[in-house]
Amino acid sequence: MDVREAQEVLKLYFGYDKFRPGQEDIISNVLAKRDTIVLMPTGGGKSVCYQVPGLVMPGLCVVVSPLIALMKDQVEALLGNGVNAGYLNSSQSSKEQQLIEQQCFDGRLKMLYVSPEKLLSAGFFSFLKRLEVNLFAIDEAHCISAWGHDFRPEYLQLKNLKIQFPEVPVIALTATADKLTQRDIQTQLYLQNPTVYSSSFDRPNIYLQVQPGQKRMEAILDFLEDRPFQPGIIYCLSRKATESLAQKLKEKGYNAEYYHAGLSAKDRDKVQERFLQDNLQIMCATIAFGMGIDKSNVRWVIHYNLPKNLESYYQEIGRAGRDGAAAEALLFHSLADVMTLRDIITQGDNKKDQALSLAKLDRMQQYAESTSCRRKTLMHYFGEEYPKDCGHCDVCDHPPVSFNGTELAQKILSAVARTKETIAPAQVVDILRGSRNQMSLAKGYDKLKTFGVGKDLPPLEWQRYIHQLINQGMLEVAYDEHGALKLTKGSQDILFNGKSVELVKFQAASPKEEKERAT
Ligand code: ADP
Ligand code: ZN
Repeated sequence: MDVREAQEVLKLYFGYDKFRPGQEDIISNVLAKRDTIVLMPTGGGKSVCYQVPGLVMPGLCVVVSPLIALMKDQVEALLGNGVNAGYLNSSQSSKEQQLIEQQCFDGRLKMLYVSPEKLLSAGFFSFLKRLEVNLFAIDEAHCISAWGHDFRPEYLQLKNLKIQFPEVPVIALTATADKLTQRDIQTQLYLQNPTVYSSSFDRPNIYLQVQPGQKRMEAILDFLEDRPFQPGIIYCLSRKATESLAQKLKEKGYNAEYYHAGLSAKDRDKVQERFLQDNLQIMCATIAFGMGIDKSNVRWVIHYNLPKNLESYYQEIGRAGRDGAAAEALLFHSLADVMTLRDIITQGDNKKDQALSLAKLDRMQQYAESTSCRRKTLMHYFGEEYPKDCGHCDVCDHPPVSFNGTELAQKILSAVARTKETIAPAQVVDILRGSRNQMSLAKGYDKLKTFGVGKDLPPLEWQRYIHQLINQGMLEVAYDEHGALKLTKGSQDILFNGKSVELVKFQAASPKEEKERAT
């Protein structure tokens, strides 16, 4: 078995002339029957890494894949390429299943996709033992890790593969790169001294930008206006938000639909198919949409709400620009989203998981509020060296200007102090700007010395400075239902010990600049 044979298979079944960087080494490793871990970004070409060796070796390649909807697409694509492939999962009738099983016994099937549930169901291992299995491929292998996102408890049982079939090599593939997940994949699957292939996670063709979450509907309409007919995905936190957003976009004349796990399988398939066939421009979706979707011309991904961590974020924006052409990722950031996510996380039972999830959320927030190159922040998060600024993100385009913000910080902090650390950021802004609203008057805030001392700056700007102080540890958010700001040791230094603070000048990107960049 040599690499030439692999190349012929690549050409014959997939129509490609050459391997992408990395693929060839991975395939030789698998052909040498060694366990393999592949960390490659979405769109990197992971499927070929198990499909080609599976076809080169005699016998059957068994692919474990968590998403039933996806399985069908992959099998259909393979059949279309002349590969005898099939799948087994709970959505099939027993007759359909028998048909596939018979093809396995006959030695006709080359590629068998199974759900983890099916793989672990009674009698399935003895069924496999009667076949010549040449390779186990574990797709979306990060699902085995409780540290990451998309944890699936049944994946933990996959260790039985190595116990029951010690001779059969295993290839585990994922687009999640962090070290903890990688370690979990190796130990939980009992992989024997695996070779780890990690390709760069950088997706240089995706322009990265973050905008404040206020007025996001207007911002989205502006964005869309400049990008007529470009297909894209808008991720929302709630099912309801996907529906109302799609509705609003339709009212504005856009070809938009929504997708979430509350829809029937049939309806989901239908809208997904429309999107894949380029008959739908905009998909408003929860994170239920997208895993494994093979649509190469998605031009942009918008996050209407902040995602819960950078792993999810990177995987989701990775669905843009898989064809390598210019693409964009726009993230809306608001403190309200952070609070909502905190609530969701702290509802869980496991305190250890909570702490980790909260720490990951903090990193997500830091990214959103980053005042240095965003790609650098991301690549560092995924453990990659990234010495230079990327020149292809909003921070690189609008480098922050820092100034001595001590006086501004003092105004903010004294508003917090004088209200006895009971108020949320929005109320601090109201006090500084002297807004005579019901709350201010009822609580007598208008009598405070700080009331109205910050009329000269717009609310958004004040809010950004509050965020920066939080990021610098000079304020804390009490993660209770009020989300009140609390003073820290750092705030004391500023208020009483004459410590100075550097803040980054807030600049809203003007619509004009936006337009210039888009053309
Ligand atoms: P992943 O599973 O890593 O997200 P896929 O396996 O779906 O990525 O591959 C992404 C795209 O790249 C697919 O359209 C696939 O056909 C294409 N592709 C994979 N390998 C090659 C190759 N060697 N040459 C050209 N295109 C390739
Ligand atoms: Zn940059």
